[in-house]
Amino acid sequence: MSEEKSLNFLEEIIENDLKEGKYKQIITRFPPEPNGYLHIGHASSICLNFGLTLKYPGYTNLRFDDTNPVTEETEYVDSIKEDVQWLGFKWEHERYASDYFDTLYEYALLLINKDLAYVDDSTSEEMAALKGTPTEPGKDSPFRSRSVEENLRLFIGMKEGVFPDGSKTLRVKIDMAHINMLMRDPILYRIKHAHHHRTGNKWCIYPMYDFAHGQSDSIEAVTHSICTLEFVPHRELYDWLIEKLEIYPSHQYEFARRNINYTVTSKRKLLQLVNEKHVNGWDDPRMPTISGLRRRGYTPESIRDFCDRIGIAKRENMIDVSLLEFCLREHLNKIALRRMVVFDPIKIVLTNYDKDGELLSTDNNPEDPNGGTRDLPFSRELYIERDDFLENPPKKFFRLSPGNKVRLKSAYIIQCDEVIKTSDGSIKELHCTYLSNSKSGEDVSGVKVQGTFHWVNAADAVEVEVREYDRLFRVEDPTDEEGDFKEYINPNSLNVVTGYAEPIIRDASATDRFQFLRKGYYCLDRESKSSKMVFNRTVTLKDGWAKEVRNAKP
Ligand code: ATP
Ligand code: MG
Repeated sequence: MSEEKSLNFLEEIIENDLKEGKYKQIITRFPPEPNGYLHIGHASSICLNFGLTLKYPGYTNLRFDDTNPVTEETEYVDSIKEDVQWLGFKWEHERYASDYFDTLYEYALLLINKDLAYVDDSTSEEMAALKGTPTEPGKDSPFRSRSVEENLRLFIGMKEGVFPDGSKTLRVKIDMAHINMLMRDPILYRIKHAHHHRTGNKWCIYPMYDFAHGQSDSIEAVTHSICTLEFVPHRELYDWLIEKLEIYPSHQYEFARRNINYTVTSKRKLLQLVNEKHVNGWDDPRMPTISGLRRRGYTPESIRDFCDRIGIAKRENMIDVSLLEFCLREHLNKIALRRMVVFDPIKIVLTNYDKDGELLSTDNNPEDPNGGTRDLPFSRELYIERDDFLENPPKKFFRLSPGNKVRLKSAYIIQCDEVIKTSDGSIKELHCTYLSNSKSGEDVSGVKVQGTFHWVNAADAVEVEVREYDRLFRVEDPTDEEGDFKEYINPNSLNVVTGYAEPIIRDASATDRFQFLRKGYYCLDRESKSSKMVFNRTVTLKDGWAKEVRNAKP
């Protein structure tokens, strides 16, 4: 059977365009506004735009939509480039809408000369009052009938900095009774005496999105300009401007925004979380930003797989974060190095063990035939997890209890003989015996046990800090709840614990991915130091959330 997936609607359009010879190659672009860091929603747009030109002949540009001088910064430009590259994509050209400010200005003069644009002195309130409603036509502005000469003179004056902010706009002259409200003489230019991150103080008028986006597409000969659904009503204006300017006819196509539950995917909202210090910066591992996911330990492969699985849709929907985590576990299971780390240790003394310096050997990754093996020091004193022992176990307790036997992973079978307590009655240590003929791989003891545990050698266990993350919000869609979305932040989204790791953990590097046995997947955090190693929990081994919700205390 063929494994080929059916085409999505954009692939269908493109295959048809190519078949009809409409284009020899297709050109797409990813057009972020550099006003924040990219998030998982953007990843979907990136995978879509770049994915199409990997599949079909052509290329993708990275275009910064930098028409709003006030919110844009070079830091954001740099982070966006890093993120797109990290996801594994290469753009053909790095472009900026601001590269085209001169051309856009010429286009504006052209429209004025065709009597298709005019300078309006109305305030935004006056404009709104004349705009009409979806069911009622608007009314013409008193400035709509200015002559071409007067419009030219005033627009040049706007550019020369003669007028203060907000005192005039350039509007396109379409139809104040148009049934599409966006066609009722939309604004093309506004006055803003502001420094721009690339053009400095050269301009004090800036084009609006609708007079920059389509024109930039056209200048770059973008064939398929893909954006999200909120731009559907803008398409008419997009086409109208291209037609009147007689420039290359790019076409706009829309797909549904991707939203993920238990988080927010809006740069503006994420910026609030950063500025108000609800998180520790844009790359906080709890953030749905690409840089946050990267720091948390996500792999580009898992994010691409996720975007591929959710595909594209024409209707907005909420995607379950469990799917993202599923893709992550799938990939990490293949690549992660297995390590043993005990989080809440209880000491075991093997009273019949008297060897010195024994080294056991175990696989780094049973899923990877080339993963190799590592040495595990073993001795008389070990740590296991406290909750792997119960003094008075219920029936069917397969962990350690007095008189009961279990296997230590890649080591020996042990039996608990005695519980040693402190004067206050708490457990100090467990005295156990080991079966010397039960070594993993060479076991001739004939003893069957139900439980196998992770453990570490007490003498050389490395103390590490582990940061455990949970969902950033405690409701599925914080923007759909009453009040401010920040009221729904999960107060327990970060939990810092100590772990005791096998000594090879000291060799961990920033790109390594680990599975701490029976615990989850982890990676080194950028704040880790050799004197104090810090790990992020990328994801637990299983999706435990559903159960946790049920057990949660009110
Ligand atoms: P935000 O509200 O987060 O700033 P935006 O749409 O304003 O989002 P842009 O920088 O303008 O952000 O987006 C760049 C591209 O990414 C656009 O084509 C946009 O449609 C797309 N995009 C943004 N958010 C999503 C999302 N959640 N799902 C899919 N595509 C998205
Ligand atoms: Mg935007």
